[in-house]
Amino acid sequence: MQTFPLFLSLQGRRALVVGGADAAARKAELLLKAGAQVSLIAETVGGEIAHFIAEGHVSWAGCAFDDDDLEGMSLVIVATEDESVQARVSGAAQVRCIPVNVVDRPALSTFIMPAIIDRAPITIAISTAGTAPALARRIRADIERSLPAALGRLARFAEVFREQVRRTLVVPRARRRFWDRVFEGRVGELALAGDEIGARRELIRLLDNARSESPTAGMVHLVGAGPGDPDLLTLKAHRLLQRADVVVYDRLVSDEILAMARRDAERVYVGKRRANHCVPQPEINDRLVALARAGKSVVRLKGGDPFVFGRGGEEVEALVAAGVAVEVVPGVTAALGCASSAGIPLTHRDHAQACVLVTGHLKNGTVDLDWAMLSRPRQTVVIYMGAGALQHIASQLIAHGLPASTPVALIENGTTDRERRVVGTLATIDRQARQAFLSGPTLCMVGEVVGLALSRDQELSFESRMGL
Ligand code: SAH
Repeated sequence: MQTFPLFLSLQGRRALVVGGADAAARKAELLLKAGAQVSLIAETVGGEIAHFIAEGHVSWAGCAFDDDDLEGMSLVIVATEDESVQARVSGAAQVRCIPVNVVDRPALSTFIMPAIIDRAPITIAISTAGTAPALARRIRADIERSLPAALGRLARFAEVFREQVRRTLVVPRARRRFWDRVFEGRVGELALAGDEIGARRELIRLLDNARSESPTAGMVHLVGAGPGDPDLLTLKAHRLLQRADVVVYDRLVSDEILAMARRDAERVYVGKRRANHCVPQPEINDRLVALARAGKSVVRLKGGDPFVFGRGGEEVEALVAAGVAVEVVPGVTAALGCASSAGIPLTHRDHAQACVLVTGHLKNGTVDLDWAMLSRPRQTVVIYMGAGALQHIASQLIAHGLPASTPVALIENGTTDRERRVVGTLATIDRQARQAFLSGPTLCMVGEVVGLALSRDQELSFESRMGL
């Protein structure tokens, strides 16, 4: 974080603006909106700012800047083009530890002006730490589009009940759950639509229900985190992460996805590596049960989909046996994520009428699979956890009838910005993989469909070679 975000109360406090033109007028207007008493320093004034002075909103002495002008100021904004004035005011303010912003001069500023969305009392400020103000404005436009204009009305409505709810629901988790229901449900809709009486009635009903609810009803959501790209998270997963008390996660879950969890949610790592189990599965199961019994809302976050080679089935069994409520939220499994990012259609009218997902995990140094079934023509075979047994897999598929020329793709860290691909055939893939030193999670895809992506890639690289 390059700058520290905070919201400053300027109600009734004094703020200084230096500059007499339109840029100064815009800053003065913003400060006035925040309730500040605004003084202006400029030898001459024009345009809108003159109007503010004439109306008595801004006080102006009509002389040049003097260090004493900073006396009693809570904030200074310099909006003049005169570089010597910019440097002087900035230096003098910094000596007195008064926050100062010089428009478009981050080096002279101790705070920056964010792009602002004002839905009073809700304020959203966006900063690129002075690197790209135009980008901040675009982000603002994106956020603005997704916020109802009446959002401020909803916040004011909630404020009226805040104290009553705090007294009624003393457990913070119960309060959080209650407010989630308010904002997501009918109360929120009614309040946004301006029907305060209806919203009030519905809120009281919800509060009565919440009061009589058992406060210790914990729950586990088994949530698929997708293959890595945070944009591939489902909306439901995102919502649950925002509400979780505890997030129990694996090695495959990326930091970006973990960062989407509620800031003060507890994070528990139970990752494991292939031959090096950090936390044994029964221990994970026990932990989930204990957390839910303690009344926590638990998100058990798993790479890809919980039910595809994710041991989600075992966790559900353990939770159900312990009488803990559990819900499964699917995620984009690695096969789907990698297929999309590599442009490999898993099925194709002409080349593959079936797609089989298998695990290539070694047990006692060997892979025990139905090789005859996997070696059938006109299907795509996707092998999870197979990178360590490629030689064995390729030779078994050839021995059971697949041509040695069958195309194979290895995709490491699929859908992330660290994605790498190795494409070859059953005859060559093991040697190529060893040369590539693949160390991240890697998926292996075997079948004619891999060849389709390969020929397209070749066309693409041919085009780029030709400068097209
Ligand atoms: N439940 C997960 C699979 C867990 S098994 C899912 O549905 O995707 C772990 C294996 O998944 C890894 O060894 C690798 O083969 C595969 N995998 C998971 N994420 C991957 C990714 N981003 N790129 C390539 N392979 C991945």
